[in-house]
Amino acid sequence: MLNVGWLTVAAGIVRRDEALDKPVRLPIPAYVVETAERRILVDTGPHPGAADDPADRYGTAHALGPFRVEQDAGIHEQIDLATIDMVVLTHLHYDHAGGLAFLPSSVPVVVQRREWEAAHDDAAIARNFFLPADYDSIGKQVVLVDGDHDLLGDGSIRLLSTPGHTPGHQSVRVGEGLVIGGDVTHFASGLDDHRFPAFADDFAAQTASAERLRTLRDVGVVVRPGHDPAVLMAGPVPF
Ligand SMILES: [Zn+2]
Repeated sequence: MLNVGWLTVAAGIVRRDEALDKPVRLPIPAYVVETAERRILVDTGPHPGAADDPADRYGTAHALGPFRVEQDAGIHEQIDLATIDMVVLTHLHYDHAGGLAFLPSSVPVVVQRREWEAAHDDAAIARNFFLPADYDSIGKQVVLVDGDHDLLGDGSIRLLSTPGHTPGHQSVRVGEGLVIGGDVTHFASGLDDHRFPAFADDFAAQTASAERLRTLRDVGVVVRPGHDPAVLMAGPVPF
């Protein structure tokens, strides 16, 4: 896992029943998954402009809503993106898709079709705080998938449809033992307590997705939460 930034926001925005006057600082992860032949990047973190000057990057000072972004080092400063064979995006929020700006144009980017379509629909863009500047340049690179998908055709990496946080959110199962959950839950405990962020595309779908990942966790699969500071340390992922 790479740390590609930090989000600071009132605790109650990202976890139901927490205080709205207490800030929390949450890590933003990205993952490099290496197989014998492939190097796959899962999520890309925010663009440095989200931290340095959101108004300049996105054309409005309010682009990030209640969130403030910090970044010690962007994805492009931590790995050579020319060595990546493929990118998988769990979803298109700016803290996951902003680093696409540094990706060579030859690298395919795998996104759920529902996510991509929502990201080009004005009402869905508004409801989900999508920022088209993050993904407008990758149209030719996008590979759309529908629902669960065997990424390499050998069962080694499987995309799991886990909608709710956004319309076409997906999680990434690596082998038998690990699931990169994305933002199905921000915190590990969310699989049990369903204390989701105050915003979502569809809370009922998010609950069902959390139950799907909880079922996997309960049989021993390590499920990585989206932004849990108690869990998400940079370095090799133990599983
Ligand atoms: Zn996120």
